[in-house]
Amino acid sequence: MDDHELASYLAEKAGSELLKLRDDGIASGINSWVLRDKGDIFAHNIIIDELTKHRPKDAVLSEEGADDLSRIQANRVWIVDPLDGSQDYPYAGSEEWAVHIALIENGKIAAGAVSCPSLKRLYSTATLYPKERPVSDSKLVISNRWNSYHAAYVAEAIGARLASCGSAGIKASLVIGGEADVYIHNSGLYEWDVCGPIAVARAAGLTACQLDGTEFIFNKEVPIVRGLIISHPELLNDVLGVLNGK
Ligand SMILES: [Mg+2]
Repeated sequence: MDDHELASYLAEKAGSELLKLRDDGIASGINSWVLRDKGDIFAHNIIIDELTKHRPKDAVLSEEGADDLSRIQANRVWIVDPLDGSQDYPYAGSEEWAVHIALIENGKIAAGAVSCPSLKRLYSTATLYPKERPVSDSKLVISNRWNSYHAAYVAEAIGARLASCGSAGIKASLVIGGEADVYIHNSGLYEWDVCGPIAVARAAGLTACQLDGTEFIFNKEVPIVRGLIISHPELLNDVLGVLNGK
């Protein structure tokens, strides 16, 4: 497996096993808080086991793992969120959770994948995407659930509707799938929240950047970013104009 195929394999495997764990857990009447925490660690262990098997020399930064900062010296670092949207995960039929996988080489994304098991979607940098797609007639901006006033300004300026949902991976998948045109996240995020979604959005021909239009640097000592835009490329200038007062 090359890195793209491995990213896809990890997202698919963790995602499908999380779906089974959830459905079995709900069927057996397990408490939702217990099931949520179980899901986080369960998916983390699957990903770590597979990376240890397939890429034993690579470093890993996982939301659910201890960070001893040895990754700072490493050229290849897998940045993973084993279960993004864990607050939504433990409920029957809930769709807003995902698995994020990304490989970072020297601060840049080299490969990645996002699986959205409840939506039966798997995107990766190994996927072939259609070359072009039009901006939809009925434009939609999607945002995080709280403090979405920046997204509201953008939606108003470009004549779009506004909606929100959980999980950055789900929101990226809605833009990739064409259900939404722009995703704006105007608050701080951890690198594991955004690396996988950015990897697959770019592979699908979308633009991903910081709120001021600049590029990200990943695998920082403090692994946070200030926000995220994933946009259809034709709308990016308008979005940046609204967000940056131009
Ligand atoms: Mg998580």
